[in-house]
Amino acid sequence: MSETVFGSAIVLHRRRLDDNSDVLLLLSPKWGRVNAVCSGLQKSGSALRGKVEPFTEFEGLFVKGSGSMWRLTQAKALRMRLELCSDYNCICWGSYLLELFSRAVEGEDLPSPASGLDYRLFYRILNEALDALICFPQKGVAVSVWVLLKVLKILGIEPALTGCCRCEEKTAAGFSHEAGGTVCRSCFGSYEDSYPLTLPALELLRYFSVSPLKKALASKHTAAAYAAAERLLWRHLSEYWNLHLKSRALLKIGERSIASFGN
Ligand SMILES: [Zn+2]
Repeated sequence: MSETVFGSAIVLHRRRLDDNSDVLLLLSPKWGRVNAVCSGLQKSGSALRGKVEPFTEFEGLFVKGSGSMWRLTQAKALRMRLELCSDYNCICWGSYLLELFSRAVEGEDLPSPASGLDYRLFYRILNEALDALICFPQKGVAVSVWVLLKVLKILGIEPALTGCCRCEEKTAAGFSHEAGGTVCRSCFGSYEDSYPLTLPALELLRYFSVSPLKKALASKHTAAAYAAAERLLWRHLSEYWNLHLKSRALLKIGERSIASFGN
């Protein structure tokens, strides 16, 4: 029994299956994460050739069979995003986003598995983030900060950023993943994992958490503030979800690797 379905998707990953076929890992707003086989992509006459590269958003016709793997039979590219591949840093941040989303949807170890509603949100966030990377190729770290805040919110583990999350104190002195957000000077010592958070990094996080992506990207912050904010959010996600992404090793802010800001 097979069924034909139609819908849009973003290509997260593509790999060879055999001499004639490739497997696409897709993010769909309707179905979440989907594996789809494409036949004949390597042939010059293939109707799918060039339309299902990573980063591409397309509309396609799929045949759902009895197995978990679907078959893509027709595709019309909506956004190819070839510009993403013209800048090395941009590819690195873009590849990291694809890897993050390939894991964030239906991730086995997720604190709260994504539901149908979340697929649409994930899809919108990824589309918006990839388009922003094209317009602002040097702002990968800012895009990541915005994306991580959104993903944490969907997963229900958004960090609390106003005042102390343990008492009534309005001034934050540091951050604790265990506490779930910023903590004041008095509560700082109550958590073993607490560490100081600079005001510029805190202000950046607060601004990004309430701003649309374009507005957030137009704001100006120091490289150190971006690095601290990004690291904090990544650690926050990792605290709840034991996640290792290979692509993070390639990430840079300017000429420095993102990891070097931690030292
Ligand atoms: Zn406190």
